[in-house]
Amino acid sequence: MRGLMMDSQLLTTELLKHAARNYRHIEIVTRTVEGPIHRYTIGEAKRRIEKLADALVNMGVQPGDRVGVIGWNTYRQFEMYYAVGGIGAVLHTVNPRLGPENAGYVINHAEDKFLFFDNTFAPLVAALKPHVPCVKRFVAMTSREHAPAFPGELDIYDEIVERGRENFDWPEFDENTAVAMCYTSGTTGEPKGVVYSHRSVVIQSFAACLPTAMGLGEGDVLLPVVPMFHVNAWNAPYSAMLVGAKQVFPGPRLDGEGLYEMFEAEKVTFSSGVPTVWLNLLHYLEKTGKKLNYLKRGMCGGSALPEALIRGYAKYGVELQQGWGMTEMSPIGTVNVLPPNLRELPAEERIKHQVKQGRALPFVDMRIVSPEGKVLPHDGEQDGHLQVRGPCIIKDYYKREGKTLTTDGWFDTGDVALIDEDGFLQITDRSKDVIKTGGEWVSSIDIENAALLHPAVAQAGVIGVTHPKWQERPLLVVVKKEGAETSSEEVREFLKDKLDKIAWPDAVEFIQEMPLGATGKVLKTELRKMFGSYQLPE
Ligand code: ADP
Repeated sequence: MRGLMMDSQLLTTELLKHAARNYRHIEIVTRTVEGPIHRYTIGEAKRRIEKLADALVNMGVQPGDRVGVIGWNTYRQFEMYYAVGGIGAVLHTVNPRLGPENAGYVINHAEDKFLFFDNTFAPLVAALKPHVPCVKRFVAMTSREHAPAFPGELDIYDEIVERGRENFDWPEFDENTAVAMCYTSGTTGEPKGVVYSHRSVVIQSFAACLPTAMGLGEGDVLLPVVPMFHVNAWNAPYSAMLVGAKQVFPGPRLDGEGLYEMFEAEKVTFSSGVPTVWLNLLHYLEKTGKKLNYLKRGMCGGSALPEALIRGYAKYGVELQQGWGMTEMSPIGTVNVLPPNLRELPAEERIKHQVKQGRALPFVDMRIVSPEGKVLPHDGEQDGHLQVRGPCIIKDYYKREGKTLTTDGWFDTGDVALIDEDGFLQITDRSKDVIKTGGEWVSSIDIENAALLHPAVAQAGVIGVTHPKWQERPLLVVVKKEGAETSSEEVREFLKDKLDKIAWPDAVEFIQEMPLGATGKVLKTELRKMFGSYQLPE
């Protein structure tokens, strides 16, 4: 017997309509690429989005067409999210930090017909132009007076919006229709396309707003530092509209000072970003002695949240919560919100739980599998390959059908992890980064986190280096804080009471700048190249 409920489809347009009906006065604020602050309400945004949708249809954007966008977090890209998806086309957010070669690769692979870009990226797009023949029209996301220099024909975003008619009649279609696509950052080979559906985005929005996840609501002011070109800014532009949170878009200013100004001026209560972003802001606060007067909570994900950051922000009254996820998971898999019994623990006890990756969002099923393929218990002891499944998790990469899942239908995350009896996930490492030493696995993340507690350490990356007896041993690579001094011996001594003996790094090397990938993560591939023939001390 089937249920007798309406089969209305879960479309992102419904989030927009819901927000405009219930939160029309809530603001969306942007530090624009052109410079000034732009401010409007959800009600006004909806009007512009409808005009844009109408104009896109008139420009010839068809259902299923891929529309590429290379831009910062701004109200214009926000409008694109809803307008492009709402007409049944697919917004392909391109990460400019991929570099010209990979950016060209993903645009061709996705076969983008239209390419929208912020002025900052005009030189990049001009250089790409001869190599992306699939793109028929280029659009600068600005007004006529700020039009950038560009070879050949160029459309101007604000003029396109002006051409559209209000009260666009949104089409209805199957909720499994693609709404957006995003390529993995290619840290593990060539970028692979992940295609989100309206259904997966709507489900992720509900899950992400829960009190056990980001806990967003009306009254919150959300500033996503995580870029809209990386997994839909962790779904922020959709989640915020579900609950009526004010949105603040930082545009191109992502440095400590730039973010601080926006946090204070717009009374931001919640923000989200990778550890590097949080680290930069913390250094800014420490350097200037400034306080955060409104920020209450932040989500930190993309790589492990170091204990030093949790402690650092606690001093400013900000609770950093760890999130774990992947481009392939829409992206949030787990968030660490402590239940009341753990929240009440003394700070030193509590922190042991805060460094874990947290518990799964609803509809995220996780299992741990041994290298031999045996499903392991969630006992908080045994770690193995982490596999996931659920409605917001990838089934196939774009144009690589049938190769993505295990034979029994799970997605292997490439992470090594354990799960305890209360459902808390703890990532040991990426399977390719884990250090295999004398038959045991050592977590590079644990060593990095411990090193970051040292007052002179700004950034840390750990790789395994070949060892004649132990197969591999950890090498710790450090960038020192500005003006700080320390030595290899001192850092190694510092780590001794923080790590098991097996994890004590055999050597510490200092470099000027940490190689970071397109999403701000330490690039272990680069570290391995830099220290390829490294000789460990006897
Ligand atoms: P890529 O960097 O390959 O494009 P993503 O940006 O989607 O991929 O990153 C996903 C990976 O990032 C995860 O598989 C995991 O290894 C790592 N990651 C994300 N969040 C965390 C976290 N909180 N702790 C540890 N690792 C994390």
